[in-house]
Amino acid sequence: MSATSKYPNLFAPLDLGFTQLKNRVIMGSMHTGLEDIPGGFERQAAYFAERARGGVGMIITGGIGPNHEAGGGAKLETLEEAAEHRTVTEAVHAADPDVKICLQILHAGSLARTAGAVAPSAIRARIAPNVPHELDEDGIEKQLADFANCAAMAKLAGYDGVEIIGSAGYLLSTFLVERTNQRTDQWGGSFENRMRFPVEVVRRVREAVGPDFIVVFRIAAMDMLQGGMAWDEVVTLGKAVVAAGTTIVSTHFCWHEAQVPTIATMVPRAAFAQVTGRLRKELTVPMITSNRINMPDVAESVLARGDADLISMARPMLADPDLVLKTLQGREDEINTCIACNQACLDHTFTGRLTSCLVNPRACRETELNYRPTVAARKIAVVGAGPAGLAYATVAAERGHQVTLYEAGPDIGGQFNLARRIPGKEEFNETLRYFRKRIEVLGITLKLNTPVDVALLKAGGYDEVIVATGIEPRVPQLDGIDHPKVVGYIDAILGRKPIGKRVAIMGAGGIGFDVAELITHEGVSASMDIDVFAKEWGIDFVNHPRGGVTGVTPEVARSDREVTLMQRKADSVGKSLGKTTGWTHRLTLQRRGVKMLNGVEYLRIDDAGLHARVADQPVLFEVDTVIVCAGQLPKRDLYDQLIAEGVNATLIGGAYEATELDAKQAINQASELAAAA
Ligand code: FAD
Ligand code: NAP
Ligand code: SF4
Repeated sequence: MSATSKYPNLFAPLDLGFTQLKNRVIMGSMHTGLEDIPGGFERQAAYFAERARGGVGMIITGGIGPNHEAGGGAKLETLEEAAEHRTVTEAVHAADPDVKICLQILHAGSLARTAGAVAPSAIRARIAPNVPHELDEDGIEKQLADFANCAAMAKLAGYDGVEIIGSAGYLLSTFLVERTNQRTDQWGGSFENRMRFPVEVVRRVREAVGPDFIVVFRIAAMDMLQGGMAWDEVVTLGKAVVAAGTTIVSTHFCWHEAQVPTIATMVPRAAFAQVTGRLRKELTVPMITSNRINMPDVAESVLARGDADLISMARPMLADPDLVLKTLQGREDEINTCIACNQACLDHTFTGRLTSCLVNPRACRETELNYRPTVAARKIAVVGAGPAGLAYATVAAERGHQVTLYEAGPDIGGQFNLARRIPGKEEFNETLRYFRKRIEVLGITLKLNTPVDVALLKAGGYDEVIVATGIEPRVPQLDGIDHPKVVGYIDAILGRKPIGKRVAIMGAGGIGFDVAELITHEGVSASMDIDVFAKEWGIDFVNHPRGGVTGVTPEVARSDREVTLMQRKADSVGKSLGKTTGWTHRLTLQRRGVKMLNGVEYLRIDDAGLHARVADQPVLFEVDTVIVCAGQLPKRDLYDQLIAEGVNATLIGGAYEATELDAKQAINQASELAAAA
């Protein structure tokens, strides 16, 4: 079956009157940090051009401010700045003249990390460092003029359009809700007054750019705020921005400060598209939906249901620039799927680091990390098919080396085979599917169920041996650590040993949290069922109260198990988890009744339970099971033997360094080494 008949909606062009989009896939806006660094325009040009070649219909850039107070970072205000942006627009249009590129105009308002931040009222956002200055009438006029100027500069710079972000807690959205707009003039009070500023921004922008220019308005269709926007206000605003000159309305869910996950891996695929569908019935322009749409079949079904006209994929375009092309060529099983971990993208953005991608370390490094054909093909053995071994083997084979990949276990994946069993981490299966297919396509010789020793490698006559044997769980030295009630995390996850009703989890890193999630979870995983997810997070998709959440109490089934998650450090438990996702894990477990304890000194384990000292007081945790999640040590026995026998070998992944190792580092390190091999 051809791609156009399998995905009739996805590959249908969209006529906007004055121009046409070649298909329904949009690369959504992401701030990557490339906007702010020296040489950033050349790097953005390469990054976006690669996505244009990969078949996407329209690209929306990362957010660019219309003036200094908009964020303190990258801005587009002057002719000189417009000239620099030409590097990006020309690269994209050279890559494919049919691909459109829009500049996102982002005015962060009270979220701007500058002392000059401005907002409708002087109210500090929960997640902002500064109290913003309240805009006076002249200040409002200046902001409006700057929006119009920025759009005009974008047109001069060769963009096909602009996206105005009217959501997420940024300037425009703070005018819309009473909690952040307490003005009593024409810009505050009634909803008509509160929406005046965003609507006027659109009107001024349209006036500045003329009719033949794409203007996208990003609307907070469900802001997830107590006291947020009511549904009739969303509709009223949508109609008003359309009347003011919007070409396309893009739905956005959640302000940054709201405490509902909307893009983490625990969110079901396309969970929010139904909200776009409802708004689409009210508006007369094409609509974009987004959030956790990471594969073409999901996108096609959203379009087929009539929930949207266009699909925005942001992180999936980091994970695989060729997602659309692969779909068009019937190679969907070769897509490197975004697993929604946020580890190398949003966690980096929110900690001031350049964005990349856990499953694709080339993302945003297109000018510096390339897998070029080798001039001297070698025979390489890779031992261990965890993330590190898989990344090394596939990059080396892509470059033309002859690779044999050995794995002791019955399947590839290493610890990802444990991770994928955790409720909410089902997407990890996609990474394994991707690597399985890659091994096949690249002709890598895969030897499963093959524990490798020195003799086997010597007999193979390899030019190079890569040791990716991973880790061994750390076993704390403690009286009673061999007591029958002590269970390692691997046995706990694989269900190889019974887990009692009262449980102590020793170690509260990523794995401790995952194990707590697994053993307190009942029924269908929220990530696999939109209704379960909505109940767990207090979202009412049916009645759409204010913000989608006002007055809705989360319903989380409390576990029958009594679980205490503990660590020795005095830090708050969960501090080491991802910046943008850690809070969701903490909240979920707290709601299930899991106790979290820091500053625990373990003393011994016996029939009575786990004896410890907490705050200088002896404590007995009367538990049936102690699950050990106390970190990991490198598994280097093979490597040490190889070196002893004079065989040249290279360590990668957990075998190289287990402390603070995660899959992001394992894949990145392996890919970089294989790119240089
Ligand atoms: P491993 O994954 O340990 O793979 C090593 C492989 O080598 C294994 O398959 C092993 O069988 C094989 N092997 C060993 N010795 C031999 C031999 N002699 N011959 C042949 N084969 C051999 N990381 C994240 O970044 N994000 C997460 O959300 C995340 N969640 C996790 C959840 C759980 C429950 C667990 C357990 C881990 C999680 N991790 C996560 C950590 C991540 O999986 C590891 O950092 C990563 O797997 C390390 O990769 P690796 O290839 O170095 O080692
Ligand atoms: P980790 O995050 O380093 O946590 C190890 C835990 O063990 C800590 O709580 C540590 O806390 C404790 N510990 C260390 N030495 C100990 C000892 N001798 N005795 C008792 N406790 C000890 O490692 P992990 O949980 O094993 O995870 C492995 C890797 O996978 C990590 O890099 C992690 O980021 C990654 N991962 C990530 C996710 C994710 O969602 N992003 C999920 C799972 C795993 P104290 O020293 O304070 O006791
Ligand atoms: Fe997706 Fe994770 Fe890559 Fe971000 S880092 S794009 S969430 S796979």
